[in-house]
Amino acid sequence: MPSTSTSSISIPELRDAFGGRVVAPGDPGYDQARKVFYGKWDRRPAVVVRPADAHEVARVVGLARDRGLELAVRGGGHSLAGHSTSDGGIVLDLSELTALEVDPDGRTAWAQGGLTTGAYTKAVGADGLVTGFGDTASVGVGGLTLGGGVGYLVRKHGLTIDNLLAAELVTADGRILQVDDQRHPELFWAIRGGGGNFGVATRLRFRLHPLAGIVGGMLLLPATAQVIADFMAAAAAAPEELSAIANIMVAPPIPFLPPEAHGKLILMALVAWAGDAGAGERALAPFRALAEPLADMLRPMPYAGLFEPVDDMEVTEESARSLFMDTVDAAAAATIVEHLQASTAPMAVAQLRALGGAMARVPAEATAFAHRDRRVMGGVGAVYDQAADKPVHDAWADGFAAALRQGDPGVYVNFLADEGPGRVREAYPGATWDRLVEVKRRWDPDNLFRHNQNIPPDPAA
Ligand SMILES: Cc1cc2nc3c(=O)[nH]c(=O)nc-3n(C[C@H](O)[C@H](O)[C@H](O)COP(=O)(O)OP(=O)(O)OC[C@H]3O[C@@H](n4cnc5c(N)ncnc54)[C@H](O)[C@@H]3O)c2cc1C
Repeated sequence: MPSTSTSSISIPELRDAFGGRVVAPGDPGYDQARKVFYGKWDRRPAVVVRPADAHEVARVVGLARDRGLELAVRGGGHSLAGHSTSDGGIVLDLSELTALEVDPDGRTAWAQGGLTTGAYTKAVGADGLVTGFGDTASVGVGGLTLGGGVGYLVRKHGLTIDNLLAAELVTADGRILQVDDQRHPELFWAIRGGGGNFGVATRLRFRLHPLAGIVGGMLLLPATAQVIADFMAAAAAAPEELSAIANIMVAPPIPFLPPEAHGKLILMALVAWAGDAGAGERALAPFRALAEPLADMLRPMPYAGLFEPVDDMEVTEESARSLFMDTVDAAAAATIVEHLQASTAPMAVAQLRALGGAMARVPAEATAFAHRDRRVMGGVGAVYDQAADKPVHDAWADGFAAALRQGDPGVYVNFLADEGPGRVREAYPGATWDRLVEVKRRWDPDNLFRHNQNIPPDPAA
């Protein structure tokens, strides 16, 4: 590994170049500046630099390249694998790059790479417009988009990358490129699913869709195997305006749940109907009829209402695995119930997202996200406090995911934790991997952008 000692960079020189937007060990703001969403990635970078524009981003990229320092690119800081922080390297923190230019008539928006998905959603929502991102406001536009982007509009408008029109990209050689279908089309293909492997996205241009509001929110049901299977069957059969995320877990003692439900398995559904309100009530009726709801908070609301209150939870330890499935039948639902009940973690969850619709109509080879035909994205996770308990919960998560797995292996790259090269390979099946490696060889032959779910330029080495 190249040296990552602070001695190879001069903090005073950096301060001269970047003004106050440099935070180093010993500075009052250092502990705050090195913090990321997952507290377990408690790392100590040599410096955190917050560039003010693409030219400054290119200078930081050049510095990391020339000094051989690890480069951690940070957007919203939600990497499950700790990729947006570093021990001894440079954190290129995009949090100053939050501008948004909306063209309501043309129905497009340029967002800078450090904007959060929640801030974007709220701002364009004021004009009755939307781009679909994920389910959590504090996730970064850059990190989510470059991996694919699966959210509440996935069945109606596809993945986030299906609504990405162009990007401004700072590449490993320090160039600032405009990338779209016409200009550097191979790069544009690769950044739609290939993550941060090809450069730093300083600006992203999205398509906007009109959306006056949704009917949706949270519905809590008792989670028997029958209810879980029926919920996912209803989600698959629903019109494309409807996207649903089912979280199955032991009910915490939350105030809007009847006390008798506490400690029992519940299905916490997050649902969005992006269409006519009357039709929405009809589309939601089958879900309400699955069982007597424990709480029914489905209602007409602004789309941005799905992202409030803004999350500020701090996750310490987590053992999570993600996978694709084709169906959640009675057997799969029974497996879910059994494994959740067997977990010894303070909190254990299974998440099921219904896919299909617009996402599935895009050809697998059109972008670097190739798992277009998979109908369900599944996730299992245990959250706990003590790192010493990790082996137990990792084994539980591995066993649970293996019991659910159907068909070819596959994973959504943005839901990968630090799981090794074999799992990154699962994100990019067949020809997708080969093509990504080719693009990587061309644009980052020295693998400067390696602190990520890495696509190495020479996988055999
Ligand atoms: C609570 C939570 C909820 C989530 N919900 C969803 C969801 O509903 N749908 C979904 O699709 N995903 C979801 N994700 C996954 C999320 O998309 C990924 O973790 C994503 O990588 C986070 O992006 P970030 O910018 O916040 O993270 P960061 O940690 O800052 O970045 C993650 C990776 O992306 C790279 N990166 C970030 N910005 C840029 C950029 N501008 N240019 C180049 N590289 C960049 C970083 O180098 C890093 O490797 C969720 C994650 C969490 C923790």
